[in-house]
Amino acid sequence: MKVYLHKVRVFLVAALVFSSLTMCSPTEDIWISGKPKVITTISPLTSITENIGGNRIVLLGIVPEGANSHNYHPVPSVIKHVESADLIILNGLFLEDPVMRIIETTSNENRKTLSLGDRAISKEDWIFDSSFPKTKGVPNPHLWPDPLMALKYADLVRNELVELDPSGAAYYNDNFVKLSARIDDLDRRIVDAIASVPQENRRLFTYHDSWPYFARRYGMDILGAVQPSELTEPSAREIVELIELIKQEGVPAVFGSKVFPSPVIEQIAKESGAAFVDSLSDDDLPGLPGDDEHSYLGLMVNNLTIMVDALGGDSSFLELVDVSPVFAGNSKVEYLQ
Ligand SMILES: [Zn+2]
Repeated sequence: MKVYLHKVRVFLVAALVFSSLTMCSPTEDIWISGKPKVITTISPLTSITENIGGNRIVLLGIVPEGANSHNYHPVPSVIKHVESADLIILNGLFLEDPVMRIIETTSNENRKTLSLGDRAISKEDWIFDSSFPKTKGVPNPHLWPDPLMALKYADLVRNELVELDPSGAAYYNDNFVKLSARIDDLDRRIVDAIASVPQENRRLFTYHDSWPYFARRYGMDILGAVQPSELTEPSAREIVELIELIKQEGVPAVFGSKVFPSPVIEQIAKESGAAFVDSLSDDDLPGLPGDDEHSYLGLMVNNLTIMVDALGGDSSFLELVDVSPVFAGNSKVEYLQ
């Protein structure tokens, strides 16, 4: 019996190791084609690039959904894809430093790198805060929760794809125009949804600090973020201070995120009397690859619905946003899971 159990255990461990390896490895065949080969990092960027590139490119998003993008190290099986890609698209602003180091160690003279965040805003518009303090010189990199920044990203991707594949210019431009209309629509609906939140509730207290550019766009206050700059947990004294702050300010809800589950924010919520909402996501798209909602637009609608409902507003403004792909037909994209 003991031997049997041991064998079962060995089998389970082997199965786990195998599945975690295969889960994070790209399928080979998407790379074998004459189409431009594009690598992206986090899923919102993959979705934006997918919508512009449609079925003219092959695309691999290398940061698995649900992984911590701030310190994710690419698995060895993606390195040869990074090496042979025509274009690598990153958020930049120091978000994907381990990925950058891999890019620097693989040589390919013809490969281009597009760092969206570094191109979308200038240093004067960088936001520093408690999780990304100015003393470290690394700004908050989460531009994409602001849809107007996502629109800039889409424009930069369009320009780069036109340069890489000039005969597809009309196609990429057409997709950009369609995506841009969707993002404008999303933006207008967010304005309406936030306007429905009582003024005194238009304040965000989150675990992971991904909403400052969004807040600046929509006139919300960031009351604070729990996660310190090293992405560790706050000290006992800091926790007490945060609880006091929330009690004083009387915010109705505090928000956790799926990628950084933490008992600390739950404790802070409980002791301060605020509701605890643990399902915001900064880069893990809702649904599964292939679903309409598994997109940048789907991510924003999902987050805003959760946020607006929890703060006492009306999230029905967001119901009619079309989150499906803007192009017809199937794309060759892989989102590592
Ligand atoms: Zn983040």
